[in-house]
Amino acid sequence: MIQIADILPTPLAYAALPADELRERIIRRKMELNAVILGHNYQRVEIQAVSDFLGDSLGLSQEAADTDADVIVFCGVHFMAETAKILSPEKMVLMPDLRAGCPMADFVTADGLRQLKARFPGAAVITYVNSTAEVKAESDICCTSSNAVEVVNSFAPDRTLLFVPDRNLARYSAERSGRPYLTTSQLGASVEAIPEGAIVAWDGYCYVHDDLVLDELAEAKRRYPNAKVVIHPEARGDLLARADFVTSTAKMVSLAEDHDELIIGTERGLIDRLRQQYPNKTLVPLSGAAICGNMKMNTLAKLAWSLDHQKHEVSIPEDVRARAEAALRGMLELSGGWRAPTPEEAAIEAAGMEGAGGCGCA
Ligand code: SF4
Repeated sequence: MIQIADILPTPLAYAALPADELRERIIRRKMELNAVILGHNYQRVEIQAVSDFLGDSLGLSQEAADTDADVIVFCGVHFMAETAKILSPEKMVLMPDLRAGCPMADFVTADGLRQLKARFPGAAVITYVNSTAEVKAESDICCTSSNAVEVVNSFAPDRTLLFVPDRNLARYSAERSGRPYLTTSQLGASVEAIPEGAIVAWDGYCYVHDDLVLDELAEAKRRYPNAKVVIHPEARGDLLARADFVTSTAKMVSLAEDHDELIIGTERGLIDRLRQQYPNKTLVPLSGAAICGNMKMNTLAKLAWSLDHQKHEVSIPEDVRARAEAALRGMLELSGGWRAPTPEEAAIEAAGMEGAGGCGCA
């Protein structure tokens, strides 16, 4: 058995420890604390290897809420840890690195959203789950990349909808629901001329998906002419128009199971994991540069430090948490709730955790 060193003062001190010791320390401390480790699909492969659950932010938060753990360590970005806290207020929620934020979520603040709402008194607010708890709390309902169109269609066709923070998912939802679309950057001094039933999108975006460009897609298609193209709806419309499938990361996992050749437009971490799982398939990233540096801020050393010191704890004022939970629950009731992975999906997750090589992490 590896000799576990005393608690060390800083993540940097942990970074000097061998990886085996870090892993053993993490597993032992996790058991002492009755903790679960959540690893987002975009995490480094070594983080995924010590995670109890892998998936997207909402699914992970729901899985953690269903456990009897006292502590949740969320290896993802800040809004994800908040989502876990929203659904598990009685549990301690930790993040290995507080600086791991989401630039898309940070596009909109609660104050900015309140100002927009004041300009559209009768409008409903739809908030993508990639958002802060404070922004969720200002919303009528949340949505995911899977159910955004369904959520939009749940409102009367003549009702104006404020959609935050992702302009690309908003535009995609507007196209699919036949609604007029504009962004907050296109609003003039008066909003009286806005067409009935329009989607007014906050002009935010995910830099990882928004940076995917047509030239990269054309090059990938030239090299793999028989491959189907699947792209995440956070990408731009000109790309989505050329995709065979537009879908969430969870559904990309299912597509990889069913197809031998795919060009995949999302963050590299998911694609590299799928390539480990299916070494004989042709699964290629639309862009090798599609890497979320924020997601990759979590490391084994910071995770070990986080467990040893029980930091950084994420907290949300109860009135904010309760209102944010109402927006999330409204979405879950509309879409029939979250479902557990099928046995096939669970097997893919498990196999992905066993991979020994590095992924495309920064
Ligand atoms: S991939 Fe995009 S949406 Fe996800 S955490 Fe990174 S910046 Fe935010």
